[in-house]
Amino acid sequence: MHISYLDNNSTTQVLPEVLEEMLPCFTESFGNPSSIHGCGRRALAVMKLARERVAALLECLPTEVVFTSGGTEGDNLALRGMMSPGDHIIVSAIEHSAVLGACRWLEHAGCEVTRVGVNGNGQVEPDSVRRALRPNTRLISVMMANNETGVLQPVEEIGRIASEADVWFHTDAVQAAGKVPISVKAIGSDLLTISAHKIHGPQGVGALFVRRGTPLRPQLHGGHQERSRRPGTENVAGIAGLGKACGIACEGFADGSVERMGALRDELEAAIVSLVAETRINGRQAARVPNTTNILFEHTGGDALVLALDEHGIEASRGSACTAGESDPSNVLMAMGLSGEQSRSSLRFSLGKLNTVSDIERVVSVLPAAVRGLREKSRFIWATAEAT
Ligand code: PLP
Repeated sequence: MHISYLDNNSTTQVLPEVLEEMLPCFTESFGNPSSIHGCGRRALAVMKLARERVAALLECLPTEVVFTSGGTEGDNLALRGMMSPGDHIIVSAIEHSAVLGACRWLEHAGCEVTRVGVNGNGQVEPDSVRRALRPNTRLISVMMANNETGVLQPVEEIGRIASEADVWFHTDAVQAAGKVPISVKAIGSDLLTISAHKIHGPQGVGALFVRRGTPLRPQLHGGHQERSRRPGTENVAGIAGLGKACGIACEGFADGSVERMGALRDELEAAIVSLVAETRINGRQAARVPNTTNILFEHTGGDALVLALDEHGIEASRGSACTAGESDPSNVLMAMGLSGEQSRSSLRFSLGKLNTVSDIERVVSVLPAAVRGLREKSRFIWATAEAT
């Protein structure tokens, strides 16, 4: 059966060009980049190129790039590396669990945390960030694009608020990278997280941008790799893949592939809304990344719909992969004002570079009947419950 993979916000397929870039790292440039012999120098050269490619995507200096094991480590390093007991941090209520989990750890460590809400469109209001400032606020962390809805956050405005208040600013750009241009200068962020596996690179590698002069404390202790900001022998092959994926992501804004992805997403949304009754696009009124749509299908129960589509080779999800399988409603959709039932009945389709119009056609041909079937089943269950 042909698979229509529409869960690219969970992870993406490694592109052939990325794999090709990685393979020599296992056979030719397999040295330790800290070694001074030829093999070590080859590995170091691989890292140098990758660092330049990441820097080009983020519009920063290569020396401001710290390689990590992915988005979770980048977020944790940013938050834990900047905060000390007694400090206050402002985050949004819709951050990824990597940020929210780090905040719970910070609270146990004696820090204060304010979680600001979002409006019905899933956007943080910059004024609510301004109002949350305290004399001991050290860091603001608000994501660039939400992983469940794709809604873009007003990070440039929040960056200005942080700068005026003399507070450090971190943004999790894991779901924004490759979908909208990123400029750390325009955002005014001091720290910014990306992850390779969301942009057709390998899993388990990412980068944290750390603006020159930002007093980040390492969270691991050992060698002096990454200018002592992240010790440990580097994942050279992964870093090569990350670099190549960043290069391809940069090209995507010029070669039309990002635009194509947006057109496919729009086509999918338009068809679903016209063919399936009682649907609503969550975050529709806000600016969103072009690959994501999160749709409420009233009275379906999202997990059942995910499984029904899976039977037809369509792979989508109910929300964050890090919370998939949990019956809890999404904290992101609840923060936008959806009920628990509505949150559980919402589905995310997220596109990648490899999706084509045939994936969209397949969803459109299968989804209406799948939704109808689930709604009939739920009506039958209600009717039986009322009769007994
Ligand atoms: N931040 C966001 C917004 C994400 O969507 C994810 C992954 O889903 C992460 C952080 C964590 O990234 P990783 O899976 O590389 O640890």
